Amino acid sequence: MDGRAFLELHRLMIASYPNVHRTLQREVVSDHSLLYTWKGTQSGRKPILLIAHMDVVPVDPGMEGAWTHPPFAGDIADGYVWGRGTLDDKASVLGVLEAVELLIAEGFEPSRTVYLAFGHDEEPRGREGAAKIASLLRSRDVRFEYVLDEGLIIGDGIIPGVAAPVAMIGTAEKGWLTVELSAPGGGGHASMPPAHTAIGLLATAIHKLEANPPAAAIKEPTRELFACAAARMPFTRQVVFTNLWLFEPLVMRQLTASPATNAAIRTTIAVTIARAGTVDNVLPTSATAVVNSRIMPGEGTASVLEHVRHVVDDPRIGIRPLKREEPTGVSPTSSASFRTLAGTVRQIFPRAVVAPGLVIARTDSAHFLDLTEATYRFLPIVLTRDDLGRFHGTNERIAVDSYETLIKFYAQLLRNSSVAATP
Ligand SMILES: [Zn+2]
Repeated sequence: MDGRAFLELHRLMIASYPNVHRTLQREVVSDHSLLYTWKGTQSGRKPILLIAHMDVVPVDPGMEGAWTHPPFAGDIADGYVWGRGTLDDKASVLGVLEAVELLIAEGFEPSRTVYLAFGHDEEPRGREGAAKIASLLRSRDVRFEYVLDEGLIIGDGIIPGVAAPVAMIGTAEKGWLTVELSAPGGGGHASMPPAHTAIGLLATAIHKLEANPPAAAIKEPTRELFACAAARMPFTRQVVFTNLWLFEPLVMRQLTASPATNAAIRTTIAVTIARAGTVDNVLPTSATAVVNSRIMPGEGTASVLEHVRHVVDDPRIGIRPLKREEPTGVSPTSSASFRTLAGTVRQIFPRAVVAPGLVIARTDSAHFLDLTEATYRFLPIVLTRDDLGRFHGTNERIAVDSYETLIKFYAQLLRNSSVAATP
């Protein structure tokens, strides 16, 4: 890996945040990831951990021209900072450092130790960055009061029927399973084909999988999200969402109709790769497909694999798991840490409704799950549906105002966590 961009970023961080680098301990992990330790004044209190990642996804080849401002120039124009990583996730890295820099200038000292973990390979799953930082902390027997990472945001106009912005704090992450399906074929000339070629067999299996998705159910944390959001819905919708015992089938029909809401209520299965055939007049000798599943908390990779076997129901089709990660547990919303987090959201974003939510992707926080009871995933920024397409997309940008508010959020969270009445 060419680490020059990270080293340049490290230099920028050191130059921009002198208070941070004078006061906090800084450790480099796996050459490019960073762990900062801000020692608390009371040794008996449990530390907290803020996570963010320094790496970004590349710009889609051929799409450079579609960017209003060059993706790596960091132009500030029309009230926005433009560029890859402005939302995902450098806003957090720099926002947290800005907040700490400000707090030190004010003379603030945290009562509990604050750790900052900035990984350099979150997008390819954090094996060198977050995973190694987590093992280092594990070897030092560090346990956290709570862990905060990116994940969900404050959605404006994203939950249908809710006019207020909804601050969704991710309390769980879906799991992951990739399975390869393979169908055998005899090869030979296409002029004397059998009833089904390898491609036909495979197509039938794929059709069965798409026609029989795993069952949907409104479970935690999605159930609580609707309960919180219902308070701000028009009356008729409110009646529906607060009486799920009666209206669940109706709500489910609506939710499964859109891919975004469908993903929040069921384990999904998507066929993502198919390979077969080489020449138009030759029968294929094999056909393979790759299926990617995202798994609900409470279910697991074993049950999804069983579902695939059961639905395909054809001994000729080989079914082989390639990669797997279990869904996380659901972090509590009854904890003092959740209250601190929710309270800080209400202070900084007074119009927002706070609710837990399900993260359908994976974050670096997954590497730290055994070091805390309470993992939350939340980027303190208000975004519309249009903005969401900018994550990993074209014209990623952050409003200058939003960035300022994000810094205020982190500063207030650190103050609140320092006085919170938890050990
Ligand atoms: Zn990210």
